[in-house]
Amino acid sequence: MATVTKRAGKSSDTNGTTKKGSDKLIYYFGQTRTDGRASQKMLLGGKGANLADMTSIGLPVPPGFTITTTSCELYYKNGGKLPAGLMDEVRKNVATLEKELGKKFGDNKNPLLVSVRSGAAASMPGMMNTILNLGLNDVSVAGLAAATGNVRFAYDSYRRVINMFGDVVVGVDHEHFEEAFDKIKRKYKAKLDTDVPEQGLVELCDAYKKVYEHHYGKPFPQDPLEQLELSIEAVFKSWMQPRAVKYRQVENITGLVGTAVNIQSMVYGNMGDDSGTGVAFTRNPSTGENKFYGEFLVNAQGEDVVAGIRTPLPVDQMPKWNKKVHSQLLEIKKTLEQHYRDVQDIEFTIEKGTLYMLQTRNGKRTGAAAVRIACEMVKEKLIDEVTAVKRIPASDLTQLLLPSFDPAAKKKAEVLTIGLPASPGAAFGKLAFTAAEAVDRTNAGETVLLVRKETNPEDIDGMHLAAGILTSTGGMTSHAAVVARGWGRCCVAGAGEITIDEKAKKITVNGKTFTGKDTLSIDGSTGEVMVGNIATQEPKLSGDFTTVMKLADKYRTMKIRTNADTPEDAARAREFGAEGIGLCRTEHMFFEGDRIQAMREMILAETKDARKDALKKLLPFQRSDFEGIFKAMKGLPVTIRLLDPPLHEFLPHDEKSQKEMATRLGVSPAKVKQRVSQLHEANPMLGHRGCRLAVTYPEILEMQVTAIVEAAINCKNKKIDAMPEIMIPLVGAAKELEVLRELTLQTIEKVIKDKKYSGKLDIPVGTMIEIPRAALTADEVAKHADFFSFGTNDLTQMTFGFSRDDINTFLPDYLRQELLLRDPFQTLDVSGVGQLVDMAVVKGRQTRDKLKCGICGEHGGDPLSIAFCNKVGLDYVSCSPFRVPIARLAAAQAALNQKKS
Ligand code: ADP
Ligand code: MG
Ligand code: MG
Repeated sequence: MATVTKRAGKSSDTNGTTKKGSDKLIYYFGQTRTDGRASQKMLLGGKGANLADMTSIGLPVPPGFTITTTSCELYYKNGGKLPAGLMDEVRKNVATLEKELGKKFGDNKNPLLVSVRSGAAASMPGMMNTILNLGLNDVSVAGLAAATGNVRFAYDSYRRVINMFGDVVVGVDHEHFEEAFDKIKRKYKAKLDTDVPEQGLVELCDAYKKVYEHHYGKPFPQDPLEQLELSIEAVFKSWMQPRAVKYRQVENITGLVGTAVNIQSMVYGNMGDDSGTGVAFTRNPSTGENKFYGEFLVNAQGEDVVAGIRTPLPVDQMPKWNKKVHSQLLEIKKTLEQHYRDVQDIEFTIEKGTLYMLQTRNGKRTGAAAVRIACEMVKEKLIDEVTAVKRIPASDLTQLLLPSFDPAAKKKAEVLTIGLPASPGAAFGKLAFTAAEAVDRTNAGETVLLVRKETNPEDIDGMHLAAGILTSTGGMTSHAAVVARGWGRCCVAGAGEITIDEKAKKITVNGKTFTGKDTLSIDGSTGEVMVGNIATQEPKLSGDFTTVMKLADKYRTMKIRTNADTPEDAARAREFGAEGIGLCRTEHMFFEGDRIQAMREMILAETKDARKDALKKLLPFQRSDFEGIFKAMKGLPVTIRLLDPPLHEFLPHDEKSQKEMATRLGVSPAKVKQRVSQLHEANPMLGHRGCRLAVTYPEILEMQVTAIVEAAINCKNKKIDAMPEIMIPLVGAAKELEVLRELTLQTIEKVIKDKKYSGKLDIPVGTMIEIPRAALTADEVAKHADFFSFGTNDLTQMTFGFSRDDINTFLPDYLRQELLLRDPFQTLDVSGVGQLVDMAVVKGRQTRDKLKCGICGEHGGDPLSIAFCNKVGLDYVSCSPFRVPIARLAAAQAALNQKKS
């Protein structure tokens, strides 16, 4: 933002006086002059900046001008009034436009018409509606008909502007216009909009004006400038409408001041069969294949192509219609990719055989496409390796790691119908018919598939929570498809054989009916819709994926470990490239099968000896678990955290289970009950847990350490290079660690002696830093720690005083009101919690020069948090197995971005 203002500030206006950049409210683009440039997205919005840019590089863009995002900001600062002088500037720019095109806005004979288009710095598909053909009225529509000799076209344009203006500016429901349209269609026995004859469209305009006046209470405004002013204001207003606010929230879009408004001279795709409109990607956004990819619709305007009004044709078939335009588009594909060095998502219109470009932006793509495109563009020398690494959104790699349907199971599946493969992946769920239903049922624990005719921005919530999205109309560029791809949510779109009865909550497909209780499966890579829930399988990774991972490893400096408690998880993470385990929790090892009995026996024991006896039974289980993990991770470090949760978590809390437990252990139910209530804590997460358990019951620590060391020795004797590291949780005071470390070291020595092991066995003993006090006194703590591992879940919990498990009762309010920009349990709170991490690293290393520091909280798999970890000099991040590839890429991006700054 600052740079934009500064650069604009250097330009001077015609009076020779230097205007501050923020004073200039409008930027013109056209043959007369072009004020804006591609880098001014914050000021001109993405659409406006690129319209200016495309004009500058000589592409055929209808001229127009962009009202800045700062004007929108001013509008809100003014309490909802257009900035002073804005309309004067608008009139000046309209005059320039008139001169350039030789037509007059508001002219009765051959009027200049414009579109009013919103466009913020971040792309928000479908969030704000465009108004086309603005400037028409009862008189000029006849003029337009005469000037073009095309009555049909003139009235088609007029009915559109009444509809769009009515819908967007004054809030007359689109449905009302649709009803009127349907009536006319019936009258003229027209199936499609294009079948309606001239006379029908003339009548339609009258009907639309009636609809408008009936629902709004005032007639459709006849003064073009009034139309324009109201439209501009409507765009500004749309910035704060709930669905836009919600979209920004879901997408984590912050820091924008408002939307720009683009006023652009019209070109007409609705002038007949030699005209049309389309959308395309310079490469396939689903697979990444380097092939021009898109759809177009003949004799149509604006959103017709994505709104599912008629079925568009794939651009492959364009040569049959107009060969020249098709090859022109292929030429533009090259020009745009050379210029932007990225895949472009374009919108274009053909007016009587002449092609016009109306939009370009970097194309959204699936994770798989991102990987393939990056690799191929490096090969094509369009971009270099570093750009390739930086460009792939690390989180999107999840999609490549998504499961697909097990081929054997799928072979047996009953395929109901095939729609468009809009967003890859495999999903199944029970049918939900509205977004609200999807939200409610998902929150209640069900897995649902959202089934809609077509989605719209109001459905965002439900789409986000549903396992998959299935629509019956709309193409590959429909709302559902675009949004789902952005999120990596599985989506099948345009499954036209499905009839949805939203009210009755059922769908019919080829004579079969399914309700909310039925489960369907959808394959987002093939478009198949199948009956029942089909087994899924893990993904196979492509060669391009391996290439990207290799590149990432070349540029990253941090190590990547994984959080894994089982040999299976450890092995999977290792396949994904994990270089060790950063957190191996031991508590689950106490739950499985018979172990829980021994554990409960231990908890009920009244003497130390009785406790030791019970622990003895647990020891072999733990030892063999560790052996399995060491084997899976041979040659790589495994950080094992000693028992952490409060003991009451291991006891049953309902009467029936307590009775069962009493019978099994041969004690009275009353005793079990008594122990349960004894262990009850008002605030167990701040209670008797972590190292506090070992302080009270050192024999638990002794047993665990014994199991670790014995397992390591057993492995070593079998030539398996076990590399355990022992981690003591929840330390708040250096003294706690001092005492427990001593006990740990003694135990290690004792086992080595007992086992008469003479080989090399070096087991570092470290601690988690997860209590603010430990971070504050890290220099003291480090005296007794061979390593630090930041447990940022607890650290966040205790720094904010937020209970992670209960945060959802108030977090949504915090995010809505922007008291917090992000959920601090997902992305590390850099300015608060981050300060503690930073400080602890610095202080720790004051005591121990090379103190190894890592992170094992959930943040270890979050790209933004990873960037922070890199900055404060952590040696590694540790995350769940499936996030390891993401972390590898994010760590490389962090290293590269840091090098730059
Ligand atoms: P969105 O941001 O929702 O994509 P746009 O502002 O891009 O909305 O407008 C949608 C469509 O309207 C464009 O793709 C284009 O087909 C049509 N359109 C917009 N402005 C013009 C124009 N000046 N002439 C012809 N068609 C236009
Ligand atoms: Mg657009
Ligand atoms: Mg913890």
